[in-house]
Amino acid sequence: MGREPVTVTQPPRAFRQITRRRALSALLAATLSVVIDFMLRFSDYQTSLNLLPSAGALRLPVTLTLAFLQVFVLLYLGLLLPRFLRAAVLLLSVLVVIVQCSYWLTLSQFMTSTDLLLALTVGGENRADAITSFFQLRVFLYALPYVLVLSALVFVPPRISPPTSTHVSALSGFRKTLALSLLPVLYLLFSSYALFLYVPERSFHLNPLTSLLRATVHYKLENLGAYHGLRDELPLFQAPQRPRDSIIYVIDESVRGSNLSLNGYPRDTTPFLQSLEKRGCLKNLGICVAAGSYSHISNAYLISGHHTFPDDGFRTDRNPTLFDYAKRMGYETLYIDINHGYLPKLMKAAGDSPVRSLDQWMNEQSFEERHIDLETTKDPGIARFLSRLLNERGGYFIVVNKKGLHFHYHYRYPADSASAIWRPVMEASEPIDTSAAGREKLVNTYDNGIRFQVDEFFRVFVSETKNQNYILLYTSDHGQTLAEQGQVYTHMKPDAVIVDVPEFLVLGERYGRRNLLAGIPPGVRVSHLNNFATLLDLMAVPMSLRVRPYETSIFSLAGENSKRYYMTGSLHGSGDYVVRAIPTPPDAGWGVSRPPSPQLQR
Ligand SMILES: [Zn+2]
Repeated sequence: MGREPVTVTQPPRAFRQITRRRALSALLAATLSVVIDFMLRFSDYQTSLNLLPSAGALRLPVTLTLAFLQVFVLLYLGLLLPRFLRAAVLLLSVLVVIVQCSYWLTLSQFMTSTDLLLALTVGGENRADAITSFFQLRVFLYALPYVLVLSALVFVPPRISPPTSTHVSALSGFRKTLALSLLPVLYLLFSSYALFLYVPERSFHLNPLTSLLRATVHYKLENLGAYHGLRDELPLFQAPQRPRDSIIYVIDESVRGSNLSLNGYPRDTTPFLQSLEKRGCLKNLGICVAAGSYSHISNAYLISGHHTFPDDGFRTDRNPTLFDYAKRMGYETLYIDINHGYLPKLMKAAGDSPVRSLDQWMNEQSFEERHIDLETTKDPGIARFLSRLLNERGGYFIVVNKKGLHFHYHYRYPADSASAIWRPVMEASEPIDTSAAGREKLVNTYDNGIRFQVDEFFRVFVSETKNQNYILLYTSDHGQTLAEQGQVYTHMKPDAVIVDVPEFLVLGERYGRRNLLAGIPPGVRVSHLNNFATLLDLMAVPMSLRVRPYETSIFSLAGENSKRYYMTGSLHGSGDYVVRAIPTPPDAGWGVSRPPSPQLQR
């Protein structure tokens, strides 16, 4: 598009023309963007239609109009910028489009407010791992049409001040630009708020850019409505003395229960755990149902003992934590979090004060300061540290968020040939490939990881712990898809396979309260929700001290758990979320995992 000739004698007319041209260009680009989006993400539009409640006949056209105007307004605002700034914004927009298309190709959705929350709160390494697991080259093919339309906008003439340019006219030009952008900006905020209130978060995004804007506004509004107060207090109680036993709660990362040979997996992934079971030092509780399909939800429920979905009353932020109870019972409390599972959230809530009831917390840096290199020793390095601690004295309550098997699995076990038992394996940074050959590598790598991060962890812990008065409750935050149904995502979606996690108790030979285990009925079906009261029982917390209703402890489970619920999406239910259940008996195939092909089994 050529530059509009502007004459000194007719600035208002020229101005009107430029404004009209800008509006028309934005309208054209918005229409093109929407058509492109419709063609590329047709399946998403079909899903969106089903999401809208059939009751609101008006809702569909109003939503579509609001969303379309958002695209138009955003592009129009871009056109108000001088060219060089516009080009800079364009570069940023291209990046956003690529990220959004990556999300869509992997998870069939653009980023939601929950994704934003995770992107902002998870550790740097996990973030990089997530990006590389998502990344596919064809994303460029998808991003290209959007980028072409955006690039064309750089050539639309910018706002032109009359040539008799003085400081005064430059200032008035700036004011005009400001005035012109005020209404559109207000519109973007207002419409995002209206959509936040009335339309499911993932529905009706006509464009990757406005979708991110909506998710950002949603995230901010969600934060405003969050609970920022103190957690409920426990009644006063004086424990007679420091307990002699220690309780360790290991919450692993991304460990699928059915990939443990302890649970019948045909490959020998956990020979040490099986030997422990034979010796009577391990009580297996079978495949447990995780509370959530990603770390944040599961940890929130596990630490707070909340037990209904979603957490619309902010109980995960208000309930006393496991540490509060342990402290009341006289234990010394320690939280080891090398996965940024929940500690950052507790610390943030505490502000400058210490985290309530937590005597000590440790992350990767704390291990570095103690000259323990987790990069080489990995999770068994933590096991060794735990053993040393217990060998000094008893009376600890320790929660561990392990590194476990967060994708890329390749990084989770040593590079030596002894640790790569099943081959071929995935190379570092290789994205998930769902072909038979790709899946074979994926599962091989994962199984090698289980053998090291799970089995070796316990071998080190059990063999190096001399103080035998301990009990350890083990589970994982969620499982993994292992691309079984062609998924390119590892977790975070509602697939039932993702909540298949292991659960067992490991006890020292001199553990004093082993009589509790007699209460576990045969064929017990456990869920994450049972763990809180189980730990309270292990701490011998009197009923009078338990201030919330909790799900039944594993030691008193009888006919309960006919349905085991879990959720994914927005924890507090303000965005899109899904609550599902694993029925009893589970659907065929649930809780079972198979190596890629029979001849590969060992
Ligand atoms: Zn996780």
